[in-house]
Amino acid sequence: MSVVEFEIRTQARDGMTDITEQVAQTVRDSGVAEGIAVVYCPHTTAGITINENADPDVVHDVLGQLNEIAPWRAKFYDHGEGNSAAHVKSSIVGASETIPISGGRLVLGTWQGIFFCEFDGPRRRRFLVTVLGK
Ligand code: ZN
Repeated sequence: MSVVEFEIRTQARDGMTDITEQVAQTVRDSGVAEGIAVVYCPHTTAGITINENADPDVVHDVLGQLNEIAPWRAKFYDHGEGNSAAHVKSSIVGASETIPISGGRLVLGTWQGIFFCEFDGPRRRRFLVTVLGK
């Protein structure tokens, strides 16, 4: 098993950063041929997701729709820090993704990429890649 921690500096309040190559490199460095990679975000106002990384309009649309679901200002938020929208988006997206490894490579579809999702940036953030297998 190997665990690698990455640091990321996000650039805006909302954003999705493609981290596929960092995850793929961690898998290659691990030497694991068959197993799983777990990508985990230890933050309550950010997340990890898998989606299309070919057309940037997809990222734009995902972030736009999340803003429709959880607008930054809403009458019903109680949380005093003022960033409830980011907490809601974090729970919708989730804190981790698990990707199979086969033949020493991540099993991702042609259009799939792994994204670090920022919902209350810009900030310095972390994510962890754990590789399990043999
Ligand atoms: Zn908060």
